[in-house]
Amino acid sequence: MKYEDNYRELESSYYMPAFSRDLMLVKGTGCNVTDAEGRTYLDLVAGIAVCSTGHCHPKVVQAIQEQAAELIHCSNLYYVPHQGTLAKRLVEYSGLKKAFFSNSGAEANEGAIKLARIRTGKTEFVACEDGFHGRTMASLACTHKPAIREPFLPLNPRCSFVPYGDAHAIRKAITKDTAGVIVEPVQGEAGVIIPPKDYLREVREICDEKDVLLILDEVQTGIGRTGKWFAYQHEKIQPDIVSLAKGIASGFPMGAIIARDDLEFLKSEHGSTFAGGPVACAAAIATLDVVEEVLPSVEEKSNQMKKAFSAYDTRVTGLMVGITIGDSCPAVQQACRERSVLVNCAAHGNLRLVPPLVISSEEIDRGCEVIDTAIKSVC
Ligand SMILES: *Cc1c(COP(=O)(O)O)cnc(C)c1O
Repeated sequence: MKYEDNYRELESSYYMPAFSRDLMLVKGTGCNVTDAEGRTYLDLVAGIAVCSTGHCHPKVVQAIQEQAAELIHCSNLYYVPHQGTLAKRLVEYSGLKKAFFSNSGAEANEGAIKLARIRTGKTEFVACEDGFHGRTMASLACTHKPAIREPFLPLNPRCSFVPYGDAHAIRKAITKDTAGVIVEPVQGEAGVIIPPKDYLREVREICDEKDVLLILDEVQTGIGRTGKWFAYQHEKIQPDIVSLAKGIASGFPMGAIIARDDLEFLKSEHGSTFAGGPVACAAAIATLDVVEEVLPSVEEKSNQMKKAFSAYDTRVTGLMVGITIGDSCPAVQQACRERSVLVNCAAHGNLRLVPPLVISSEEIDRGCEVIDTAIKSVC
Protein backbone atom coordinates (compact mmCIF):
# COMPACT_ATOMS: atom_id res chain seq x y z
CA MET A 1 0.00 0.00 0.00
CA LYS A 2 1.30 3.46 -0.87
CA TYR A 3 2.06 5.52 2.21
CA GLU A 4 0.62 9.00 2.66
CA ASP A 5 2.77 12.04 1.78
CA ASN A 6 1.08 14.27 4.36
CA TYR A 7 1.88 12.02 7.33
CA ARG A 8 3.02 14.91 9.53
CA GLU A 9 -0.26 16.83 9.11
CA LEU A 10 -2.31 13.68 9.54
CA GLU A 11 -0.55 12.87 12.79
CA SER A 12 -0.85 16.35 14.25
CA SER A 13 -4.55 16.55 13.35
CA TYR A 14 -5.77 13.05 14.05
CA TYR A 15 -3.32 11.14 16.23
CA MET A 16 -2.86 11.52 19.99
CA PRO A 17 0.47 13.23 20.60
CA ALA A 18 2.00 10.58 22.84
CA PHE A 19 5.16 10.20 20.75
CA SER A 20 7.73 12.65 19.53
CA ARG A 21 9.21 11.61 16.20
CA ASP A 22 10.16 13.05 12.88
CA LEU A 23 11.20 10.20 10.58
CA MET A 24 8.90 7.91 8.70
CA LEU A 25 10.46 4.56 7.80
CA VAL A 26 8.90 2.94 4.78
CA LYS A 27 11.10 0.01 3.81
CA GLY A 28 13.61 -2.34 5.36
CA THR A 29 15.91 -5.16 4.31
CA GLY A 30 18.48 -6.77 6.57
CA CYS A 31 20.02 -4.06 8.75
CA ASN A 32 18.99 -1.21 6.45
CA VAL A 33 15.89 0.95 6.53
CA THR A 34 14.77 3.65 4.12
CA ASP A 35 12.78 6.74 5.08
CA ALA A 36 9.99 8.50 3.21
CA GLU A 37 12.50 10.88 1.62
CA GLY A 38 14.47 7.96 0.20
CA ARG A 39 17.42 8.10 2.61
CA THR A 40 18.83 4.76 3.75
CA TYR A 41 20.13 4.14 7.28
CA LEU A 42 22.05 1.40 9.03
CA ASP A 43 19.56 0.42 11.72
CA LEU A 44 21.16 -0.30 15.10
CA VAL A 45 17.81 0.09 16.86
CA ALA A 46 15.90 -2.69 15.05
CA GLY A 47 12.51 -1.57 16.34
CA ILE A 48 14.04 -1.61 19.85
CA ALA A 49 15.42 -5.14 19.90
CA VAL A 50 12.48 -6.48 17.90
CA CYS A 51 13.80 -7.13 14.39
CA SER A 52 16.49 -9.62 15.43
CA THR A 53 16.34 -11.38 12.07
CA GLY A 54 16.78 -8.04 10.29
CA HIS A 55 14.01 -6.31 8.39
CA CYS A 56 11.73 -8.46 6.28
CA HIS A 57 13.86 -11.59 6.46
CA PRO A 58 12.77 -13.72 3.46
CA LYS A 59 11.97 -16.75 5.65
CA VAL A 60 9.79 -14.66 7.96
CA VAL A 61 8.06 -12.89 5.07
CA GLN A 62 7.36 -16.23 3.41
CA ALA A 63 5.95 -17.75 6.60
CA ILE A 64 3.66 -14.74 7.14
CA GLN A 65 2.52 -14.64 3.51
CA GLU A 66 1.82 -18.35 3.32
CA GLN A 67 -0.10 -18.42 6.59
CA ALA A 68 -2.02 -15.22 5.76
CA ALA A 69 -3.25 -16.88 2.58
CA GLU A 70 -4.38 -20.00 4.52
CA LEU A 71 -6.00 -18.63 7.68
CA ILE A 72 -5.41 -15.27 9.38
CA HIS A 73 -7.54 -15.79 12.48
CA CYS A 74 -9.72 -18.46 14.00
CA SER A 75 -10.03 -17.68 17.77
CA ASN A 76 -8.78 -19.76 20.67
CA LEU A 77 -12.17 -21.48 20.64
CA TYR A 78 -10.37 -23.87 18.28
CA TYR A 79 -6.96 -25.47 18.04
CA VAL A 80 -4.75 -22.91 16.32
CA PRO A 81 -2.32 -24.00 13.58
CA HIS A 82 1.36 -23.75 14.71
CA GLN A 83 0.50 -22.83 18.33
CA GLY A 84 1.52 -26.19 19.76
CA THR A 85 4.70 -26.36 17.67
CA LEU A 86 5.78 -22.92 18.84
CA ALA A 87 4.98 -23.74 22.47
CA LYS A 88 7.07 -26.93 22.20
CA ARG A 89 10.05 -25.05 20.75
CA LEU A 90 9.94 -22.42 23.52
CA VAL A 91 9.58 -25.04 26.23
CA GLU A 92 12.58 -26.94 24.86
CA TYR A 93 14.80 -23.85 24.61
CA SER A 94 13.82 -22.58 28.04
CA GLY A 95 13.87 -25.78 30.07
CA LEU A 96 10.51 -24.72 31.52
CA LYS A 97 7.24 -26.61 31.24
CA LYS A 98 4.40 -24.82 29.45
CA ALA A 99 3.87 -21.66 27.38
CA PHE A 100 1.00 -19.22 26.95
CA PHE A 101 0.84 -16.52 24.30
CA SER A 102 -0.01 -12.81 24.34
CA ASN A 103 0.17 -9.89 21.93
CA SER A 104 2.85 -7.74 23.55
CA GLY A 105 5.43 -7.52 26.31
CA ALA A 106 3.17 -5.68 28.73
CA GLU A 107 0.50 -8.26 28.16
CA ALA A 108 2.98 -11.08 28.74
CA ASN A 109 3.82 -9.49 32.10
CA GLU A 110 0.10 -9.11 32.88
CA GLY A 111 -0.15 -12.83 32.32
CA ALA A 112 2.85 -13.51 34.55
CA ILE A 113 1.41 -11.32 37.32
CA LYS A 114 -2.02 -12.97 37.08
CA LEU A 115 -0.46 -16.43 37.07
CA ALA A 116 1.66 -15.62 40.13
CA ARG A 117 -1.35 -14.24 41.98
CA ILE A 118 -3.73 -17.05 41.20
CA ARG A 119 -1.27 -19.87 41.98
CA THR A 120 0.19 -18.36 45.15
CA GLY A 121 -2.98 -16.71 46.48
CA LYS A 122 -0.78 -13.73 47.37
CA THR A 123 -1.14 -10.22 45.99
CA GLU A 124 2.08 -8.20 46.17
CA PHE A 125 5.31 -7.97 44.16
CA VAL A 126 8.86 -6.78 44.50
CA ALA A 127 10.52 -5.09 41.50
CA CYS A 128 13.58 -2.97 40.82
CA GLU A 129 14.28 0.73 40.58
CA ASP A 130 14.69 1.77 36.96
CA GLY A 131 12.96 -1.44 35.87
CA PHE A 132 10.52 -1.40 32.97
CA HIS A 133 7.76 -3.94 32.51
CA GLY A 134 5.20 -2.19 30.31
CA ARG A 135 2.38 0.33 30.17
CA THR A 136 -0.75 -1.65 30.99
CA MET A 137 -2.01 -1.20 34.54
CA ALA A 138 -0.46 -4.22 36.26
CA SER A 139 2.80 -4.08 34.31
CA LEU A 140 2.94 -0.33 35.03
CA ALA A 141 2.38 -1.04 38.72
CA CYS A 142 5.67 -2.96 38.64
CA THR A 143 7.44 -0.33 36.51
CA HIS A 144 9.47 2.10 38.53
CA LYS A 145 9.86 5.32 36.54
CA PRO A 146 7.83 7.89 38.51
CA ALA A 147 7.03 10.07 35.47
CA ILE A 148 5.10 7.31 33.71
CA ARG A 149 3.72 5.60 36.79
CA GLU A 150 2.63 8.32 39.20
CA PRO A 151 -0.08 9.90 37.00
CA PHE A 152 -1.92 6.56 37.23
CA LEU A 153 -1.83 5.96 40.97
CA PRO A 154 -3.35 4.09 42.68
CA LEU A 155 -2.07 1.08 40.80
CA ASN A 156 -2.60 -2.59 41.40
CA PRO A 157 -0.87 -4.89 42.31
CA ARG A 158 1.06 -3.32 45.17
CA CYS A 159 4.71 -3.36 44.32
CA SER A 160 7.77 -2.30 46.29
CA PHE A 161 10.94 -1.19 44.54
CA VAL A 162 14.52 -1.96 45.51
CA PRO A 163 17.86 -0.95 43.97
CA TYR A 164 18.80 -3.08 40.95
CA GLY A 165 21.70 -5.45 41.46
CA ASP A 166 21.21 -5.69 45.23
CA ALA A 167 19.89 -9.15 46.08
CA HIS A 168 19.90 -8.44 49.81
CA ALA A 169 17.44 -5.57 49.25
CA ILE A 170 15.05 -8.04 47.65
CA ARG A 171 15.28 -10.31 50.65
CA LYS A 172 14.37 -7.41 52.94
CA ALA A 173 11.45 -6.29 50.75
CA ILE A 174 9.71 -9.69 50.65
CA THR A 175 6.76 -9.96 53.06
CA LYS A 176 4.19 -12.66 53.82
CA ASP A 177 2.00 -11.11 51.09
CA THR A 178 4.63 -11.25 48.33
CA ALA A 179 3.56 -13.40 45.39
CA GLY A 180 6.64 -12.82 43.28
CA VAL A 181 9.76 -10.90 42.43
CA ILE A 182 9.86 -9.48 38.90
CA VAL A 183 13.27 -8.59 37.48
CA GLU A 184 14.96 -7.95 34.14
CA PRO A 185 18.20 -9.98 33.76
CA VAL A 186 19.64 -6.84 32.12
CA GLN A 187 17.76 -3.55 32.37
CA GLY A 188 17.05 -2.45 28.81
CA GLU A 189 15.02 0.75 28.95
CA ALA A 190 17.24 2.00 31.78
CA GLY A 191 20.15 1.97 29.32
CA VAL A 192 21.53 -1.58 29.28
CA ILE A 193 22.37 -1.95 32.96
CA ILE A 194 24.07 -5.26 33.70
CA PRO A 195 23.82 -6.48 37.30
CA PRO A 196 26.78 -7.90 39.23
CA LYS A 197 27.69 -11.50 38.40
CA ASP A 198 25.73 -13.98 40.55
CA TYR A 199 22.92 -11.46 41.16
CA LEU A 200 20.31 -13.63 39.44
CA ARG A 201 21.56 -16.70 41.25
CA GLU A 202 21.27 -14.95 44.61
CA VAL A 203 17.78 -13.70 43.74
CA ARG A 204 16.84 -17.26 42.77
CA GLU A 205 18.08 -18.56 46.13
CA ILE A 206 16.21 -15.86 48.03
CA CYS A 207 12.97 -16.62 46.18
CA ASP A 208 13.37 -20.33 47.01
CA GLU A 209 14.15 -19.61 50.63
CA LYS A 210 11.17 -17.22 50.99
CA ASP A 211 8.89 -19.36 48.83
CA VAL A 212 7.99 -16.61 46.35
CA LEU A 213 8.00 -16.85 42.57
CA LEU A 214 10.83 -15.50 40.44
CA ILE A 215 9.48 -13.83 37.31
CA LEU A 216 12.18 -12.86 34.83
CA ASP A 217 11.13 -10.23 32.32
CA GLU A 218 13.06 -11.24 29.21
CA VAL A 219 10.89 -9.19 26.88
CA GLN A 220 14.06 -7.43 25.69
CA THR A 221 16.83 -9.90 26.59
CA GLY A 222 15.13 -13.09 25.39
CA ILE A 223 15.32 -15.02 22.11
CA GLY A 224 19.05 -14.73 21.56
CA ARG A 225 19.63 -11.05 22.28
CA THR A 226 22.38 -11.72 24.85
CA GLY A 227 23.92 -14.63 22.93
CA LYS A 228 21.85 -17.37 24.56
CA TRP A 229 18.17 -18.09 24.05
CA PHE A 230 17.50 -16.61 27.49
CA ALA A 231 19.75 -14.36 29.54
CA TYR A 232 19.18 -16.49 32.66
CA GLN A 233 21.05 -19.31 30.91
CA HIS A 234 24.31 -17.38 31.40
CA GLU A 235 23.80 -17.82 35.15
CA LYS A 236 22.58 -21.42 34.91
CA ILE A 237 19.44 -20.73 36.87
CA GLN A 238 15.77 -21.02 35.99
CA PRO A 239 12.95 -18.63 36.73
CA ASP A 240 9.47 -19.80 37.71
CA ILE A 241 8.01 -17.69 34.93
CA VAL A 242 9.73 -15.92 32.04
CA SER A 243 8.04 -13.28 29.88
CA LEU A 244 8.97 -12.66 26.24
CA ALA A 245 7.95 -10.45 23.38
CA LYS A 246 10.20 -8.10 21.42
CA GLY A 247 12.44 -10.46 19.46
CA ILE A 248 10.05 -13.39 19.28
CA ALA A 249 8.37 -12.86 15.90
CA SER A 250 10.53 -10.35 13.98
CA GLY A 251 8.05 -7.53 14.49
CA PHE A 252 4.79 -9.37 14.09
CA PRO A 253 3.02 -8.54 17.39
CA MET A 254 3.45 -11.38 19.85
CA GLY A 255 4.40 -12.08 23.44
CA ALA A 256 4.63 -15.16 25.60
CA ILE A 257 5.11 -16.49 29.07
CA ILE A 258 6.72 -19.82 29.83
CA ALA A 259 6.39 -21.29 33.31
CA ARG A 260 7.78 -24.20 35.30
CA ASP A 261 6.02 -27.36 36.29
CA ASP A 262 2.73 -26.88 38.19
CA LEU A 263 2.44 -23.23 37.18
CA GLU A 264 -0.27 -23.01 34.59
CA PHE A 265 -3.53 -21.30 33.87
CA LEU A 266 -6.45 -23.65 34.28
CA LYS A 267 -9.68 -23.54 32.32
CA SER A 268 -11.05 -19.98 31.91
CA GLU A 269 -8.40 -18.39 34.13
CA HIS A 270 -6.87 -16.35 31.29
CA GLY A 271 -7.37 -15.79 27.59
CA SER A 272 -7.19 -13.44 24.64
CA THR A 273 -8.92 -13.05 21.30
CA PHE A 274 -5.84 -12.55 19.16
CA ALA A 275 -3.00 -14.07 21.20
CA GLY A 276 -1.14 -16.95 19.62
CA GLY A 277 -2.94 -16.54 16.30
CA PRO A 278 -1.82 -18.57 13.30
CA VAL A 279 0.11 -15.79 11.53
CA ALA A 280 1.91 -14.70 14.71
CA CYS A 281 2.89 -18.29 15.47
CA ALA A 282 4.12 -18.86 11.91
CA ALA A 283 6.18 -15.65 12.09
CA ALA A 284 7.63 -16.74 15.46
CA ILE A 285 8.58 -20.22 14.25
CA ALA A 286 10.36 -18.76 11.21
CA THR A 287 12.09 -16.28 13.54
CA LEU A 288 13.30 -19.07 15.83
CA ASP A 289 14.71 -20.91 12.79
CA VAL A 290 16.72 -17.84 11.78
CA VAL A 291 17.84 -17.04 15.34
CA GLU A 292 19.00 -20.66 15.76
CA GLU A 293 21.30 -20.13 12.77
CA VAL A 294 22.81 -16.82 13.91
CA LEU A 295 23.00 -17.50 17.64
CA PRO A 296 26.53 -19.01 17.52
CA SER A 297 27.82 -15.80 15.90
CA VAL A 298 26.47 -13.40 18.52
CA GLU A 299 29.38 -13.70 20.95
CA GLU A 300 31.95 -12.76 18.32
CA LYS A 301 29.87 -9.78 17.19
CA SER A 302 29.46 -8.80 20.81
CA ASN A 303 33.23 -8.81 21.31
CA GLN A 304 33.66 -6.69 18.21
CA MET A 305 31.28 -4.10 19.70
CA LYS A 306 33.01 -4.27 23.07
CA LYS A 307 36.37 -3.58 21.45
CA ALA A 308 35.05 -0.73 19.33
CA PHE A 309 33.71 1.14 22.36
CA SER A 310 36.40 0.23 24.88
CA ALA A 311 37.37 3.90 25.22
CA TYR A 312 33.91 4.74 26.59
CA ASP A 313 31.89 3.86 29.67
CA THR A 314 30.22 0.91 27.95
CA ARG A 315 28.18 -2.12 28.92
CA VAL A 316 27.84 -4.98 26.47
CA THR A 317 26.03 -8.30 26.64
CA GLY A 318 25.43 -10.12 23.40
CA LEU A 319 24.11 -7.53 20.97
CA MET A 320 22.85 -5.21 23.67
CA VAL A 321 25.12 -2.22 24.11
CA GLY A 322 24.79 0.74 26.47
CA ILE A 323 27.17 3.70 26.33
CA THR A 324 26.98 6.41 28.98
CA ILE A 325 26.86 9.75 27.18
CA GLY A 326 24.95 12.08 29.47
CA ASP A 327 22.91 15.13 28.51
CA SER A 328 24.24 15.24 24.96
CA CYS A 329 22.84 11.77 24.15
CA PRO A 330 20.07 13.20 21.92
CA ALA A 331 22.66 15.26 20.04
CA VAL A 332 24.74 12.12 19.48
CA GLN A 333 21.64 10.33 18.23
CA GLN A 334 21.04 13.20 15.79
CA ALA A 335 24.68 13.29 14.67
CA CYS A 336 24.54 9.54 13.95
CA ARG A 337 21.38 10.02 11.96
CA GLU A 338 23.01 12.71 9.84
CA ARG A 339 25.66 10.09 9.08
CA SER A 340 22.95 7.54 8.18
CA VAL A 341 23.05 5.39 11.31
CA LEU A 342 20.06 4.94 13.63
CA VAL A 343 20.77 4.64 17.36
CA ASN A 344 18.54 5.18 20.39
CA CYS A 345 18.82 7.18 23.61
CA ALA A 346 17.47 5.14 26.53
CA ALA A 347 17.10 6.55 30.06
CA HIS A 348 19.74 8.60 31.92
CA GLY A 349 21.69 9.70 28.85
CA ASN A 350 22.56 6.13 27.89
CA LEU A 351 22.98 5.44 24.20
CA ARG A 352 21.45 2.03 23.43
CA LEU A 353 22.36 -0.22 20.50
CA VAL A 354 20.26 -3.33 19.89
CA PRO A 355 20.97 -4.16 16.24
CA PRO A 356 19.59 -7.15 14.35
CA LEU A 357 21.38 -10.35 15.38
CA VAL A 358 22.05 -10.96 11.67
CA ILE A 359 24.26 -7.84 11.44
CA SER A 360 27.54 -8.45 9.59
CA SER A 361 30.99 -7.67 10.90
CA GLU A 362 31.38 -4.96 8.20
CA GLU A 363 28.15 -3.34 9.32
CA ILE A 364 29.31 -3.39 12.92
CA ASP A 365 32.58 -1.70 11.91
CA ARG A 366 30.76 0.94 9.90
CA GLY A 367 28.21 1.61 12.65
CA CYS A 368 30.79 1.80 15.43
CA GLU A 369 32.97 4.18 13.42
CA VAL A 370 30.05 6.53 12.81
CA ILE A 371 29.04 6.47 16.48
CA ASP A 372 32.61 7.14 17.60
CA THR A 373 32.85 10.11 15.21
CA ALA A 374 29.42 11.36 16.32
CA ILE A 375 30.32 11.21 20.01
CA LYS A 376 33.60 13.03 19.37
CA SER A 377 31.84 15.70 17.31
CA VAL A 378 29.25 16.39 19.99
CA CYS A 379 30.87 15.74 23.37
C1 LIG B 1 9.58 -3.31 25.88
C2 LIG B 1 9.50 -3.96 27.18
C3 LIG B 1 8.27 -4.27 27.79
C4 LIG B 1 6.96 -3.85 27.19
O1 LIG B 1 6.68 -4.48 25.99
P1 LIG B 1 5.50 -3.90 25.07
O2 LIG B 1 5.43 -4.88 23.93
O3 LIG B 1 5.89 -2.53 24.66
O4 LIG B 1 4.27 -3.91 25.89
C5 LIG B 1 8.29 -4.96 28.98
N1 LIG B 1 9.44 -5.33 29.58
C6 LIG B 1 10.64 -5.06 29.03
C7 LIG B 1 11.88 -5.52 29.72
C8 LIG B 1 10.72 -4.37 27.83
O5 LIG B 1 11.92 -4.06 27.29
